[in-house]
Amino acid sequence: MTNLQGKKMITVAMTGASGNMGKAVVKETMKLPYVKLRLLLLNGKRERNLIKKWQKEYGDRVEYFFGNMKYEGDCLQLVKGSDYVVNMAAIIPPQADRYPELARDVNIIGVQKLVLAIEAQPVQPKFIHISTVAIYGNRDFNHPWGRVGDPLLPSAYDEYGTGKLIGERSVLDSDIHTWAILRQTGILYDKLLMANISDGLMFHTCFNVPIEWATDHDSGVLIKNIIAKDYVNDNEGFWNKVYNIGGGAKYRTTGYETFDKGFGMIGGSVESFMRPNWQATRNFHCMWFSDSDELENRFHFQSKSMDEFWTDVKNKNRYFALAKLLPASAISAMVIKPLLRDKNAPYRWVVKEENEGRTNAFFGSREQWEAIGEDWSKFDVWNKNQIPGHNYSKEINIKYANKCKLNHGYDENKPDSELTLEDLQQAAAFRGGKCITTEFTKGDWYTKVEWECAEGHRFKASPYTVLKAGHWCPHCIQESHWNFDQLAKKNPFYAQVWYDTHEKEENAMYYINSKGLALVA
Ligand SMILES: [Zn+2]
Repeated sequence: MTNLQGKKMITVAMTGASGNMGKAVVKETMKLPYVKLRLLLLNGKRERNLIKKWQKEYGDRVEYFFGNMKYEGDCLQLVKGSDYVVNMAAIIPPQADRYPELARDVNIIGVQKLVLAIEAQPVQPKFIHISTVAIYGNRDFNHPWGRVGDPLLPSAYDEYGTGKLIGERSVLDSDIHTWAILRQTGILYDKLLMANISDGLMFHTCFNVPIEWATDHDSGVLIKNIIAKDYVNDNEGFWNKVYNIGGGAKYRTTGYETFDKGFGMIGGSVESFMRPNWQATRNFHCMWFSDSDELENRFHFQSKSMDEFWTDVKNKNRYFALAKLLPASAISAMVIKPLLRDKNAPYRWVVKEENEGRTNAFFGSREQWEAIGEDWSKFDVWNKNQIPGHNYSKEINIKYANKCKLNHGYDENKPDSELTLEDLQQAAAFRGGKCITTEFTKGDWYTKVEWECAEGHRFKASPYTVLKAGHWCPHCIQESHWNFDQLAKKNPFYAQVWYDTHEKEENAMYYINSKGLALVA
């Protein structure tokens, strides 16, 4: 089929179109006159309203059906005859914590079924899989910068991060010919502030955590530009790799500063609205990407800055001005303080539930939580330059990123074509394991080889999956279980970042039992 200009029409199949990123991707890709969309949507009220809106706007260029990714038949219907498949479906926190079964269906099972459906096509579509920064786990000022290939250590009790890690692995281990994995960072969208002050999840964002945001709009432009460049065969070297999506320098900040800017819109500040011991001190995720320019240089999608984003939000929400009429203490007492009693609030876990697992995961111990206190003058804030040796304003630059680069365990300065068996053996040893395979064709990044982890598990994975994408033993990563205290003891690759926010003496096995209780052994 051709469009009016005589160019070939292409079909882009999508999951997760009703999410914040998905809506932006629909809007942007519809600007390409040669694109038709096929959407797999859950049959909910929100989805039904959206599809009405889209059909009015784009007519029969948007085709849809209701179903669920956990069913292979629905995945087959979605991908059949398509040119691209974009998987944006994800159940994120707090929903992922409330509905673990649904999260599993989408973040793990759904991806596996989608992979099978694509593999089964006589002519496979190209696959873009959206993953997440949550798979890297926690960072602080010791290693604020990260890149693809860094260790994947999802935070304790974060079923979302773990599920997405397992889902991503099924793409890397698949027989899909043409794929790309894009690890999405935290998304800024118009309703972010209001959505966040409704759940205890907001207290998981550590004040001293590095964050590089991206907006929903820019992520939409990114996907559009990938398809547009590919359409004119101007996309050499892009496929079969993993990337980080981030907004770049203008969106690099910290947890503290993000709250401060957000609350600034309603006349407050982080210190007038919150107390230091309300917030977790570790076990979050996010970092500054030293490699987010890779996608930017190819696809030019980053726009504006964080300050402009907040100004836009303020202009769209005139009623925010009304909040300024109230004293900060009143807003804090009315809007934020009640959330300390929410099921997702670390403060509640320590004070009310005395949940040892969650207390230790998010603070180290009850004693460490007690030492934080409520007094801002006694709490060291990184971006106020109160952390000795970690000067925020001077070191937030790419030169520092090169200085605190994590070791991936092989010589990265060699050309990719020079990869040898010795490199694989060296990388395996740095992970506390071995490369079992003895036959290796120089420079072959994508044929699977056999490995053994420090725990004695054997598994197959391509050199790309291990050395470039940062994955390791799939048997050591289990849903509802987080045993990185033990794994890091034998794995220097993990240890180099794990001990930034953990003590060597810690020996916890965090897990969620079948009743959904967060426990520790
Ligand atoms: Zn293992």
